[in-house]
Amino acid sequence: MSRSKRPRNILPAHFFKGINLAGKSDKAKFKKRVVKYAIDLDIPLKSISVRPMSRKWASCSTAGNLSFNAELLNMPKKLGEYVIVHELLHFHVPNHGKLWKSLMRAYLEDYDKLEKRLSKY
Ligand SMILES: [Zn+2]
Repeated sequence: MSRSKRPRNILPAHFFKGINLAGKSDKAKFKKRVVKYAIDLDIPLKSISVRPMSRKWASCSTAGNLSFNAELLNMPKKLGEYVIVHELLHFHVPNHGKLWKSLMRAYLEDYDKLEKRLSKY
């Protein structure tokens, strides 16, 4: 699972359809991070929204629509990445079992620490 060998400057169009990545706002930067991981994980996304959510950090639909809690924009970048990878992996693995955990570790080595930090928010 070597991520560095993949070309990052050639992005398949289907990843971007309907996703507005324009601008330099925190929201746009967050969405770009989501797209970056989605490309690494081969997940074609239809939409990404960042909006106020109660009781949840993110949600996803099998149709490729992802929503993130806008609160993440005010939190450390690493925690946002945790939520991004966590949610994206659910497109491949619907639970938090062994496979999910090993994939989490492959992308974010200290994911369990991040999980603990996030639970304090
Ligand atoms: Zn989950």
